[in-house]
Amino acid sequence: MARLVIIPAMLDPHTHLRDLDWSHKATFASETAAALAGGYWAVFDMPNTPPTTTDPVALARKQAALRAAAVCDWGIYYGAAQSGNMESYDDVAGQVCGLKIYNNATTGNLLIAEQGQRAHHYAAWPTGRVIAVHAEDETVLDILQLVRQYRKRTHFVHISTAAELDYLRAAKEEGLPVTIGVCPHHLYLTEADLPALGSFGLMKPGLKAPADRDALWAGLQSGLVDVVESDHAPHTLAEKQSSQPPYGVPGLETTLPLLLTAVQAGRLTLERVIELVALNPRRIWGIEAPPDTYALVDLEADYVLERARLHTACGWTPFEGLRVRGRVRETWIRGRRVFADDQVLALPGFGQDLFRDSVC
Ligand SMILES: [Zn+2]
Repeated sequence: MARLVIIPAMLDPHTHLRDLDWSHKATFASETAAALAGGYWAVFDMPNTPPTTTDPVALARKQAALRAAAVCDWGIYYGAAQSGNMESYDDVAGQVCGLKIYNNATTGNLLIAEQGQRAHHYAAWPTGRVIAVHAEDETVLDILQLVRQYRKRTHFVHISTAAELDYLRAAKEEGLPVTIGVCPHHLYLTEADLPALGSFGLMKPGLKAPADRDALWAGLQSGLVDVVESDHAPHTLAEKQSSQPPYGVPGLETTLPLLLTAVQAGRLTLERVIELVALNPRRIWGIEAPPDTYALVDLEADYVLERARLHTACGWTPFEGLRVRGRVRETWIRGRRVFADDQVLALPGFGQDLFRDSVC
């Protein structure tokens, strides 16, 4: 028996959609289609793929390409550049979902490892607009110092260890304006899975110990964690199977089924899942959902995740073969049925820029 429920206006604030100079990996068309198949209304795209979104020209190029191709709604992050691009912040801040600062090694060339440099970026970004940070281990403490000093709203992406969660719990108790995102691969996989996964288990931050995974689940259950974000980062099968595989895994189409499986197992309530994938991301970024925008989900659908059914261009998933319960049947945006029966029904360009003309 099907058991249909509605999940309102899901927003994934952490994806790497590729396209532009990396269109051989995936395109805005293919990955926004994957977002609809995953039940999402909207996605935010990270700035670290070439050409990096660190100047107004690159931003305009990405906006134009997404405007033409996207089938779901979208926002773009601006990236903090090593070279220092702060003079452009006032001009771009109203057009983007936030500033992304890479404080630990990542894909691309945006690492800002020096605390004084980080401070310049923090000082320059307009107050009230989100800063998303990649910070691991003790770097979390370095960033919290900047949050304490500048009081800028800061979202910590892909938190993956018990220690990092402890730092951030204390920061919340202190009243700092911080929020926490975790990723499905850190919830469902650990370093013990690496021998079986091979390069499909390589991402940044890497897979951690079972005790870290357990701490993340406890954080989901207690309300400490604010967001489950996919960190969707497709690479081609050939690249992943090469002698120097790149970091990153796709996730847009597996995140919701994995969380609904946790609901069926009694590990999370459906209400909590809705907070994690829809209500909290919208609250953090201050975005209202359009009317009649939702995913229609069958909680009883019982099946095995398989790459053949995915819409992402990369054609593989680290969760291949995993039995899940909960399938997206339809996705609706602004009263239009944009995904049904495994087919994307929206035309390229249907997706809207959520930060067009937003006031800085
Ligand atoms: Zn990422």
